[in-house]
Amino acid sequence: MKQRTIKKSVKTSGIGLHSGKRVNLEFHPAPENNGIVFRRKDKGFFPIKADISHVSKLAYATNLSKDGISIATTEHLLATLRGLHIDNIFIDIDAEETPIMDGSASAFVYLLKEAGIKEQSLERKYLRILKPKHYLNGDRRISIYPYDGFKITYTIEFDHPLIRLQTRTIELNREEDFENDVSPARTFGFLKDVEMLRKNGLALGGSLENAIVVDSDRILNGHLRFADEFVRHKILDVIGDLALLGYPILGHVVAYKAGHEIHTGLAKEIREDSDCFEIVNAGELEFIMSKQSNSKNTEPSPQFQELS
Ligand SMILES: [Zn+2]
Repeated sequence: MKQRTIKKSVKTSGIGLHSGKRVNLEFHPAPENNGIVFRRKDKGFFPIKADISHVSKLAYATNLSKDGISIATTEHLLATLRGLHIDNIFIDIDAEETPIMDGSASAFVYLLKEAGIKEQSLERKYLRILKPKHYLNGDRRISIYPYDGFKITYTIEFDHPLIRLQTRTIELNREEDFENDVSPARTFGFLKDVEMLRKNGLALGGSLENAIVVDSDRILNGHLRFADEFVRHKILDVIGDLALLGYPILGHVVAYKAGHEIHTGLAKEIREDSDCFEIVNAGELEFIMSKQSNSKNTEPSPQFQELS
C-alpha cells in the first residue's frame, strides 16, 4: 500500500458551527510524508499540522493552535481524510473555523472523490498498537487494544427516550466502510443546551440544516439517516480525533460515553508511551502478518500430537 494524496485541487464554502462565520475551504495535493496540514489563507498561509501536540481548546469540538493562530472544529475533516485513506494533503481555510456543511462528513467525501485519489511512490506508514492503553474521566472512558486492522466499538448512553443506550462496532478497512456507514451521520445537540452554548459563544452557526436537534421527546428536523445515527457520529468524531496521531492506526478502539477530551486524552497517552506502539511501513506490515499466519499454520494439530 502506497501513500496517497488527491489528483487535483477542489474547493467549497460554508459556515462555522460555533463561530457562525462564512469560510472558504480548499483541498490541495501534497508531497509524500507531508501528512495533513491546515493552512490559514487569511494569515499568510500559516501552516498547522494536524498533530496531537497542537490541540488547544476542546469546547464541543477539537481545535488546534500554534503561535496564537487556530483552526477550530477539525474532527469531521480529519475523519474523512482518514476514512478515504488520504495521507498527504493541504487544507486551506480563510477563517478560524472549518465549515460544518450538513453536520456530517458527506460533503467532504463527495468533494474529495471529485478531486480523485493519486497513489504516490513511498509506502504508507501505520501506527500499530502493541499493548492496551486506557484513558478515563469519571465514567467516560476509552481504550485501545492491539488488532491487525482498524476497528471501533462505541457506546453512548443518554437519559433521553430517543437515544438511551446505543452501541456499534465498525471495521474501517475499506473506503466504503467509512463512506457508507459513518460519513453521513450528523452531529447532534439538545434544544435545552442551545441557550447555554450560545451564551458561551458556541453553536452560533448551528441550525436545523447542520445538526440533529433533539427536544425532550422528538427530533426537530425530520428523519434520522440511521436508526443509530447518534453513535455513528461519535465514531466519526473519534476517527477524526485519533487522526491527530499522524498515521492510520492498527488497533481496536473501545469507547464508552466519550467525547473530544477523552479521545484526544488517549491520543496523548499513546504518543507519550513509545512502548505501546510501533510505526511500520506497509511492506514490514505484510511481513509481520505473513509471519503470524505462518506460525498459526505450523502449530501441530491435536491429531498430529496424538499420533506421535
Ligand atoms: Zn462531530
